[in-house]
Amino acid sequence: MGNISSQDITLIYGGTFDPIHNGHIMLARYVASLPDVKEVWLMISPQNPLKQTSRISDDRTRLKMASIALEDEEAPIRVSDFETLLPKPTYTAETLRRLSQKYPERRFGLLIGSDNWLCFDLWREAPYILSHHPIFIYPRPGYEAGDYRPEALSAIEHPGVTYLENAPLADISSTHIRSLLAAGISPEGLTPKPVADFILENHERLYR
Ligand code: ATP
Repeated sequence: MGNISSQDITLIYGGTFDPIHNGHIMLARYVASLPDVKEVWLMISPQNPLKQTSRISDDRTRLKMASIALEDEEAPIRVSDFETLLPKPTYTAETLRRLSQKYPERRFGLLIGSDNWLCFDLWREAPYILSHHPIFIYPRPGYEAGDYRPEALSAIEHPGVTYLENAPLADISSTHIRSLLAAGISPEGLTPKPVADFILENHERLYR
């Protein structure tokens, strides 16, 4: 895995990515360019135990779409299947613990949206995550810094937490893309073209 200094962070960017879209990629590129960040790993999650997800596409398909999206990517952004291979349900703390065991030369950080940060204290082993891994928070519209409860605000003062107020946010969501597809409209322009092509080629089984 090369020579990675202890200061360089491998930033875990988790999500369902059903499908991956340009908003995800724009944000991943932005964080990949931060001075302390060595690599960004898109961590395709099997299912978020706190999110009442209805039907999501299978792990293989979501991994495939993310891989297609990043095929010619120049920024150090990789797709990881690590969490899909863990026993279910998966929790971020456990994923980070196992990642650190498997890649002891790397220092793993976590990238989350301000929406998730607002309920971060409800995450399993939140104090463990906070004390062992740097956390980068990017703003999501509707979840501004002023909305933080006092507990969350004081955690922001934690030395391991960085608030990325300049992170770029595109007004795109996977939900919107899925509803376009269900209405027979191409997602081109919202996802990289090869991903849009893949979805349209597999439309018989995807997002109907
Ligand atoms: P869905 O609409 O299915 O909830 P989503 O578009 O929000 O999906 P997720 O798979 O939940 O995508 O996203 C993974 C991560 O990417 C989440 O932590 C989410 O905060 C973030 N994210 C979602 N949309 C954007 C966007 N437009 N720009 C930057 N980050 C985003």
